[in-house]
Amino acid sequence: MKYKILLAGNPNVGKSTVFNHLSGENQHTGNWIGKTVDTAMGVFSYRDHDYELYDLPGTYSLNSHSKEEEVARDTVFFFPHDLVVVVVDAISLERNLNLVFQILEYTKQVVVCINLMDEARKKGIEIKTKELSSLLGVRVVLTSARRDEGLEELKEAIYETLEKRNESVYQVSYHPLLEEATCLLEEYLTSLDLPVCSRWLAFRLLIEPESFLVLVSQFLHYNFQEDKHLQNLLFLVRRDWQEKGITRNQLLDFVSEDFSRQQKEVVDAVVEMKQKSSNSFSWDRILTSKKYGIPIMILMLMVVFFLTISFSNYPSELLFSLFARLESFLLSLFSLLHIPSFITSLLVLGVFKTLSWVVSVMLPPMVIFFPMFSLLEDLGYLPRVAFNMDGIFQRCGACGKQALTMMMGFGCNAVGITGTRIIDSKKERLLAILTNSFVPCNGRFPMLIALISMFLLGSSAGVGATLLQMLYLTGFVLFACLMTFFLSYVLSKTLLKGERTSFTLELPPFRKPEILKTIVRSLKDKAFQVLKRAVLVSIPAGILIWIFANVEISDHSILSYVTNFLDPFAQLLGLDGVILTAFFLGFPANEIVIPIMIMSYLATGTMQEYTSFAALKTLFIDHGWTTLTAFCTILFALFHFPCSTSMLTIYHETKSVKWTLLSFVLPLVVGSLLCFLTASIYRIFV
Ligand code: GDP
Repeated sequence: MKYKILLAGNPNVGKSTVFNHLSGENQHTGNWIGKTVDTAMGVFSYRDHDYELYDLPGTYSLNSHSKEEEVARDTVFFFPHDLVVVVVDAISLERNLNLVFQILEYTKQVVVCINLMDEARKKGIEIKTKELSSLLGVRVVLTSARRDEGLEELKEAIYETLEKRNESVYQVSYHPLLEEATCLLEEYLTSLDLPVCSRWLAFRLLIEPESFLVLVSQFLHYNFQEDKHLQNLLFLVRRDWQEKGITRNQLLDFVSEDFSRQQKEVVDAVVEMKQKSSNSFSWDRILTSKKYGIPIMILMLMVVFFLTISFSNYPSELLFSLFARLESFLLSLFSLLHIPSFITSLLVLGVFKTLSWVVSVMLPPMVIFFPMFSLLEDLGYLPRVAFNMDGIFQRCGACGKQALTMMMGFGCNAVGITGTRIIDSKKERLLAILTNSFVPCNGRFPMLIALISMFLLGSSAGVGATLLQMLYLTGFVLFACLMTFFLSYVLSKTLLKGERTSFTLELPPFRKPEILKTIVRSLKDKAFQVLKRAVLVSIPAGILIWIFANVEISDHSILSYVTNFLDPFAQLLGLDGVILTAFFLGFPANEIVIPIMIMSYLATGTMQEYTSFAALKTLFIDHGWTTLTAFCTILFALFHFPCSTSMLTIYHETKSVKWTLLSFVLPLVVGSLLCFLTASIYRIFV
């Protein structure tokens, strides 16, 4: 038999680190808990027993204020398991105990894992494990998961608790009014002999919304809604509260006060400060200050861009020339083997060329950009960005957490869109979803970098050119952010009117990232995953586009019919028919937009080698590109419809055709307007 163990904890307490150390390589992600979120499940063995470990979303409480809390609540309460390990942060034990208490109300089969002990010790914090263990009536283990310390003890504690069927004794006492009502209900529920703790059930029936009654009825196969006696008791209690003028929200405030008081009592009894922290300097005073917060953030962005550009140009060129050599080799090989010319052309000039573009242009920036971003994330800087941006978002009627989802969008918009689940209010979440594609994802970044470097740098070269390129890129990204604010504001005053909600954003302590591990993880999980997707899309796309560009009907290729049709409209936007067609055909993935342009131009022009950006620029100029064309293409790349994966994700998250369509139309209208205005103004004045 395999024991099922849940791993719960606040965000950022090292839960995943504990999970990874316990289950090693034996992990799978999937919809284990029957919710719409994927959770990781790992297996490990200890002392002849096998264990399945389920990683819950990081959550501060089980009060179902957010999607994470709801998933965690439903899993702890309704997913069959044998034990819960609660991972807590040794430095913020008091706050973390809230979750421990809430879980202890439901089950006594608990092990408390106090992690980050290495950091706590540095700050002079000592925790009296024995005292805490006997206060709570559960095993308490101290760990430093990152250093692999204490994890054997954790396994032993899990084993012992399960073997001995440990029974916790701790019981949170509530405000007298709530205590009285809980006891009343508890007495009746005990008489029903249900397989759950009656006190927990009584308390939850009192504080949870109506929907909980349905869930718990299904779970326990007992229809609480039909139970007249219970309904009567609930009615009497609620009437009594109403007469006393007490609302549900006040009640919840009482509950959190009770919890806070008892959390403090426990901490006073078990935590000892050996020495006061001598290091009173706080980085947060600078990084989140009103004066320096945002400038530092922009500076940081510029540094990330600068490093990305300066280190990716050379490998990009190198890959280009490598692929060009490989291409000539393939061409000679195919001709040696007498392979028909249309197959050679399809495979080498269609598929291979598209692939070589995608790899040469995307790989180097991604390999640099992603790890740098992950390092900032691990350092704990990203929540500071959300904190700094909260004021601006508030003024736009949105939520500061949107900044975090925008940052996820830098990697991949679909990830950013899923990430909006951290926003509690439906209206603010929709704002974040609708505007997420304004942030250029990595499929578009390389395109922006390439176009800037080919057309906007003039005669500058060397470090000067890189600096200029970085300034342009930062400018475009900041402009995209401004448009996000502007549209959030407009939407919040029109389609998405409603109350603003407040949120508490946890500022986790700064932590020294594990540099090598972070780099490897981000390359493995992000960069190569994204590249894999791009390559997989570009192969069939390459074949299809080649056919469109080369199969002729009445002396014209299929592609040219489309591009000619779109050309007049595209010219109004400062683009041409090929560019616009490329964006539409690039709907499966933005990475293939430029290869489509190249192939379309090559099909109509003379065959050229494009072994560098310079050769590519010549190809574009030969087809009528000017600085205006490049500028408008950049604008259109920033603001057009989201890719197919993002659209599917939007539908999945909103379950609404209306919002999915709007998320397609909105950026397209914005982009078209911006391009039209730019082109018109340019044509008037230049
Ligand atoms: P989660 O959000 O709870 O899953 O937290 P993670 O496992 O992602 O850890 C957050 C950060 O804390 C990462 O940078 C970890 O390397 C770091 N971390 C985890 N456990 C420890 C620990 O015991 N000591 C220290 N110093 N850092 C840790």
